[in-house]
Amino acid sequence: MQQLNSLTREAQALAAGIMPLSRNESEVGRIMQICNACRYCEGFCAVFPAMTRRLEFGKADINYLANLCHNCGSCLHACQYAPPHEFALNVPQAMAKVRGETYSDYAWPPLFGRLYKHNGLTVALALAAGLAAFLMLTVLLVGKGFQAPEAGNFYSIFPHNLLVSMFAPVFLFAALALTLGVRKFWRDVSPGRASLAAGGEALGNVLAMKYLDGGHGQGCNNADDAFTLWRRRFHHFTFYGFMLCFAATGVATLYHYLLGWAAPYALGSLPVVLGVAGGIGLLIGPAGLLWLNVRRHPEQGDVAQRPMDRGFIVLLLLTSLTGLALLAGRDGAAMGILLALHLGVVMALFATLPYGKFAHGIFRSAALLKWSIERRQPNNLQLGDD
Ligand code: SF4
Ligand code: SF4
Repeated sequence: MQQLNSLTREAQALAAGIMPLSRNESEVGRIMQICNACRYCEGFCAVFPAMTRRLEFGKADINYLANLCHNCGSCLHACQYAPPHEFALNVPQAMAKVRGETYSDYAWPPLFGRLYKHNGLTVALALAAGLAAFLMLTVLLVGKGFQAPEAGNFYSIFPHNLLVSMFAPVFLFAALALTLGVRKFWRDVSPGRASLAAGGEALGNVLAMKYLDGGHGQGCNNADDAFTLWRRRFHHFTFYGFMLCFAATGVATLYHYLLGWAAPYALGSLPVVLGVAGGIGLLIGPAGLLWLNVRRHPEQGDVAQRPMDRGFIVLLLLTSLTGLALLAGRDGAAMGILLALHLGVVMALFATLPYGKFAHGIFRSAALLKWSIERRQPNNLQLGDD
């Protein structure tokens, strides 16, 4: 009967030219109607002031609010209507489920959307192990697995052009898929024009991960109703570690093509210093996030997405571990094997970027920009405190 009702609702919505809501989106819609009458959580994060600008919640609104939510958990523990209350309101969990759907719904190409559901720890580890094994075997077969030290000259194992032809297509495809996916999301949420002030504010919120402070500055809930700032700190380590590694690769590319300075670079050189700092950040951050993820209260998110979360975290962790091991052993006889291992892990990370947890950073940044634009627009309802 319930299924029949939902089918009838979908048919009515389609007939009226409205995109029907999924079950998870309907749940967020129901919750937002109750929250809009309550408003107790208005100061926690941007979701609630954005909610007060609406009386109805269509598909695009719900997708926008779900990606604006940082899953800090504060509104679950503060809510007087949370289970066991008969309203059974669980904002973080409902938002997390819709977020998972948006990654699939907006995926490019659309056929690949279902990969999100299969992108778990096992797939991540199997892909990394498979690629690393293939590269290690190649290195061993050409007799470069264990050889006289090459003073960190990676190109004696894999020539520069071969590395570029292996990694550039995977990286460019990941960038294209993410860009086209978020562009579709951006169009659907009809953001309006971004001013410099809105762009600057959104960038600040993204870089500071502002809403991981729970709105009160004491942080997120994780294992229980106690606040912790460690989730935000470990996100900072991870994000800035990733960016520093990216900067190291960028500087090395400029050295190679603009200045004609070929690798290997000295330990005190900019690419190595940036890479080491980034690698340490990518060790501390993902290790901490994994620890928090294992301890996370099941009600604060969507447990079905944990394999995807952990797959991404573990790939980041392995990337930094193998990268630092390669740096430590680059002057030794096992440099070829260490290089193959690191390249296999990095290739697996790149390959899974567009269809894994990495997407949350892109969609959340877009939602934060929309919020910064929206809060500068006139609010005809005048029902919130913004
Ligand atoms: S989550 Fe609960 S307490 Fe917070 S605004 Fe919604 S109904 Fe009110
Ligand atoms: S979980 Fe945190 S970020 Fe998400 S809606 Fe609740 S208070 Fe806002």
